[in-house]
Amino acid sequence: MQLPSSSNAPEGARDERFDGLVRMARRHFGVRAALLTTGNRGLQQVCACDGWTLVDPLPDGHLPLFHVTQTDALLVVPDIHRDEHLRNHDLVKVLPGLRFLAACSLPGADGALFGVLYLLHDQPRDLDVEQHQGLRDLAELAAGVLVREESDRRELERLQESERRLAPAIAGSGTGIWDRNAVTGEIHYSTGWKALLGYADHEVGNRIEESYTRVHPDDLAYVQATIQAHFERRTEAYEVEHRLRCRDGSYKWVCSRGKVVERDEFGKPLRMVGTTTDITAMRALSEKMQQTAALMTDLTNEIPGMVFQYRRRLDGHSYFSYVSAGVREIYGLTPEQLEQSADALHAIIHPDDLALYLGSLETSARDLKPWHLEYRVQLPGCGASWRQGDARPRPLADGSVLWHGFITDITERKLIEAELQVFATTDSLTQLSNRRHFMQQLESELARVQRSVGYCAAILMFDLDHFKSINDRWGHSVGDLALRHFSAILCAQLRRTDAAGRMGGEEFAVALSNASVGEAMIFAQRVQQELDRTPLPHGDERLALAVSVGIATIHPTDVSAEATLSRSDMALYRAKRGGRNRIECH
Ligand code: GH3
Ligand code: MG
Ligand code: MG
Repeated sequence: MQLPSSSNAPEGARDERFDGLVRMARRHFGVRAALLTTGNRGLQQVCACDGWTLVDPLPDGHLPLFHVTQTDALLVVPDIHRDEHLRNHDLVKVLPGLRFLAACSLPGADGALFGVLYLLHDQPRDLDVEQHQGLRDLAELAAGVLVREESDRRELERLQESERRLAPAIAGSGTGIWDRNAVTGEIHYSTGWKALLGYADHEVGNRIEESYTRVHPDDLAYVQATIQAHFERRTEAYEVEHRLRCRDGSYKWVCSRGKVVERDEFGKPLRMVGTTTDITAMRALSEKMQQTAALMTDLTNEIPGMVFQYRRRLDGHSYFSYVSAGVREIYGLTPEQLEQSADALHAIIHPDDLALYLGSLETSARDLKPWHLEYRVQLPGCGASWRQGDARPRPLADGSVLWHGFITDITERKLIEAELQVFATTDSLTQLSNRRHFMQQLESELARVQRSVGYCAAILMFDLDHFKSINDRWGHSVGDLALRHFSAILCAQLRRTDAAGRMGGEEFAVALSNASVGEAMIFAQRVQQELDRTPLPHGDERLALAVSVGIATIHPTDVSAEATLSRSDMALYRAKRGGRNRIECH
């Protein structure tokens, strides 16, 4: 006796598990044949059969099987010949020797009919209660396997469908798809995946062991550890950047992303799907960008001083959109402190220079001219120090101004400049102004006299009497001491606004601001008296000193400071001529 076979039986029909199941059913129940079908209602297809050889199917490929209308239903027909309804059933026509039939439905996951397990025999017979249960158990077992198989098939179809749909997009994006069975170590790659590495469809095997041979040896341990971490649920998903060997032996950088989509009841991963994206170009670009950024950072951080980008909005609010690490040394601040607002800087800039600082930026923004300023800062715990700022402004579309520039510490330079200034303006022996500087001061005083009606000032020339004899008698160094001694006496008499200078040799000049001739006379007398009162101590000796003085007023009609000075010189000459230790007015 032969049963028709179904040519379009699903893949699972050849599954050995179903063959084994029907074989077991046949032997266990001692029937001629056992048959497993899948499908619902009338559209049953043979999935596995043992006992009767299947021959030609019916034209539509389906067996004329019984309607088992209920799920979980068990139909037992002890003798078909005696059953009015089934006696003329199509199946009996196909299998004339068929006498006994038992059919048990296979419930699907949703409760719908999923298939039927049949016992077929060529003699009338019956099943006891225990056998009923046995048949039900077998049917349930078959259902379990079939449901799994079916959901896998649907999932695969879904994947294939989505891959088909995504194919054009994925092809363009350099992404391939993979699907890995975590239990068997089987892994399937999409055509796009294979193309990514230059392989044709048939050139890539489906074993995970082979996959690992394509991973760059330096990356393998990391890749495997990352997968393991995800398998053990330590990560939400698997994501790793690594190198993969192409067909031509070269390596590509890829980003592999994946996720376990199925686990068993103990959490053991069963299946994982994911994507592989070619990131070679992106990585090269990002490496180049990193190098550029590193160079920028090195440049800005290693150059002494602070490099900055400073922005001032139209509403006046300003902030540093970038400052290099040097901000700590230059302002004693962190980049974050200036990021939102430049206000923190206002407490650092020396109060005497703050207005100058703000004003200079204002001017630079208004005229769009380079900003250059030397100003003082006061870092907490330190004294004042000097900074120099240089920057170029650039107007932005929103009305704000953006400067790029740098600040350097010029404290050292300022100190040297100050020292040079002292060298250039003072007499080293007495620390008074030198002639050149005194003449400048006198010039200013003259200008003031010329500017302000009613303002008067006086100039006094001092020349030590018989100074040569001190040198001659006590030596040049004692002569120097005498010069210092006199300048100290002179300075003690000066007001803050007066100027004194050593004009050369043993000649000194004083410009008394806001002073009449009479006041100048009193000043000169005080100096003479002090000098007389305090002889220069030298060993046990007290060396008496005397000085002649010539006084002149600073006149608004004087054409120069020299002219003023020459008048006091003339008065001094008269004092000398008149016997020395005298005061003469021009
Ligand atoms: P008089 O009362 O007429 O002013 O006589 P004097 O000796 O003070 O004037 P004189 O011009 O004859 O001599 C000035 C001397 O001052 C000559 C010079 O050697 C000395 N002299 C000039 N510069 C210095 C100096 O820096 N140190 C010392 N020790 N002597 C100086
Ligand atoms: Mg002299
Ligand atoms: Mg003299």
